[in-house]
Amino acid sequence: MPTPTAFLRGEFVPMEDAKIGVMTHAFNYGTAVFEGIRGNWNAEQEQLYLFKVRAHFERLRMSAKIMRMELRYTDDELVEITNELARRNGYNEDIYIRPMVYKSTEAVGVRMHDLDDDFLLFVTPFGNYLDPDAGIRCMTSSWRRIDDTMIPARAKVNGLYVNNAMAKTEAQLNGFDEAIMLNSDGHISEGSGENIVMIRNGKLISPPETDNILEGLTLDTAFDVARNELGLEVERRSIDRSELYIADEIFMTGTAAHVTPVTEVDRVPIGDGGTGPISAKIQKTYFDMITGKLPQYSDWISPVYEASTVAGD
Ligand code: PMP
Repeated sequence: MPTPTAFLRGEFVPMEDAKIGVMTHAFNYGTAVFEGIRGNWNAEQEQLYLFKVRAHFERLRMSAKIMRMELRYTDDELVEITNELARRNGYNEDIYIRPMVYKSTEAVGVRMHDLDDDFLLFVTPFGNYLDPDAGIRCMTSSWRRIDDTMIPARAKVNGLYVNNAMAKTEAQLNGFDEAIMLNSDGHISEGSGENIVMIRNGKLISPPETDNILEGLTLDTAFDVARNELGLEVERRSIDRSELYIADEIFMTGTAAHVTPVTEVDRVPIGDGGTGPISAKIQKTYFDMITGKLPQYSDWISPVYEASTVAGD
């Protein structure tokens, strides 16, 4: 097995040497932005496919801009470094790649300015985060979603995830799989690491970008599948908590979570309490897409290993 490798301070280093100091600003104050990119293993083709790498780096750049951070690599360089890192790690299983731009100066003092930024990347084997087959049981969190006027949720800011972690832990300690967070005005925002979609009368409905959500790439993908493959309508509008209880189907989307059906919210069964038919279709297409089985979506996936092993070439 190759040596687990990370990218830190401009170079590839063995994972065990990829360390940052205790005074690092980002560690002390959460002053960093991050991404999560999946590599999905196709056993038949013996190929690992990265999903929407460029889009993830576009969002990282957006997060960095909001946080006044500098991402000193071009998109092409970031894609190249990511492919190279995935290749060097040589995993033959699903992986999760974590890019981060962080305030690297070792200094005490709360601020965003006059600090250095560094970029890092690490890879870890990563199976299912939630259970996409059985679906999940969610609870409405008593922790409200942080507002754009506090820490912008459309930026994937490390420190912001304390809000998400509070909600996730509350849900799990209460016997649920995942939390659904409400905005201060009581409308639905999102899960702790997922966007939420409800289906009513054959239409997919998800909160708008202005309801303190991360602008999810998996959500975009699910919407594209719904529109293009299933001919369904999609809508962005605010959602009430009670609407979730009477939805025909609900699913959550996320790089870690994939497309995962929600079978229950606050102990109310959604639909008949199983995976709904539309969710099932979207999920199947999504899994086929990310494992390189749908040539019409090849622009979104990039093979990590030698092209000669890719079937269909
Ligand atoms: N919301 C939050 C809070 C998240 O952490 C994530 C995961 N990145 C998502 C939504 C889903 O975004 P994506 O589909 O781009 O991973």
